[in-house]
Amino acid sequence: MVGPGGAALTASAIKQRARELGADLVGIADGAFMDRLPEPGGVQLRPSRITDFDGDRVIVLARRLGAGTSRLTRWDERHKYYNDELALTGLEQTALELVLWLEDRGVPALIVPPTHVDPWRYSGDPEAHIEPLLSLDYAAVEAGLGTLGLNLQLLTPEFGPRVVLSAVLCSADVDCDAPMQRALCLGPACGRCLRACPGDVIGHWERDWPACDRYRSPHGFAQLTEFLGEVFDETDPEARAAMVRSRESFDLWQSILRGAGVLTGCRRCAEVCPVGEDYEALRDAQEAIAEGTEAKELRLADMVAAEQRSALPKDYVERRRWIGELGRD
Ligand code: SF4
Ligand code: SF4
Repeated sequence: MVGPGGAALTASAIKQRARELGADLVGIADGAFMDRLPEPGGVQLRPSRITDFDGDRVIVLARRLGAGTSRLTRWDERHKYYNDELALTGLEQTALELVLWLEDRGVPALIVPPTHVDPWRYSGDPEAHIEPLLSLDYAAVEAGLGTLGLNLQLLTPEFGPRVVLSAVLCSADVDCDAPMQRALCLGPACGRCLRACPGDVIGHWERDWPACDRYRSPHGFAQLTEFLGEVFDETDPEARAAMVRSRESFDLWQSILRGAGVLTGCRRCAEVCPVGEDYEALRDAQEAIAEGTEAKELRLADMVAAEQRSALPKDYVERRRWIGELGRD
């Protein structure tokens, strides 16, 4: 394998090229090692599910989300969906250029998008959550980019959870990064993600993923099938025509057009998270959380009390490697 100017291909050369191509953060995980890790709660970590030959390294790329959209406090904001979708598209272009650059240097490579699910695992139930074939949040931790938070979102020191991810698989013989040891998350004593969540789907180091999917993909496949079912069931021709012309139909059409509202959606938990150097630019807009309730406060207090007794939940114990050791230095 030959790098730029005939030099041997190195991890730093790959990272430099990824940054030149538009990545804000880049890390390299040991894919062969990930293949041997236990997979907590149905999360998929094995590059060998995608490729037999070219998954020894997982190059994880992150692009930051715009501060302007992170200052919008409604969870269901189409500008947010659209801007985030553009960030994802930009990152996909970065990933493609990196693949071609690696292949020009004799390294076969392929892209793993954050939403790539295995169609063979689809059960016929649009409401069921399907895990991506390779969890990029977990891969990002393996690549040293950050740690998982209370609701299992990836947190980075630079941008907190306000990033989109992509990954490039290859078997270049280059050095890997190591996961961080200490949690970046401030835990239930912070709890701002839980307080802000419109679906109230966040638990103690866990998340109700099917319930979250309704928000983070608000005009996705489940909503499309539900809406079409209602249209088919409507027997009054006038009412059926009105449904076809409805706001719901319009939102679905707009979302299918670009993926905004399908691949992107709610990220209220990310906007309010105080982790990340970028949070200062959001603080005045996000400090107050309108979605807080007494019931949420009581749940958070119970979690804090449990952690003070060292009664950590199974969800944390299973994911300790990716969440990190609790309590900041
Ligand atoms: S994406 Fe939205 S619904 Fe899902 S956990 Fe975050 S705030 Fe809650
Ligand atoms: S908002 Fe607080 S509790 Fe939630 S992920 Fe961020 S630091 Fe952790």
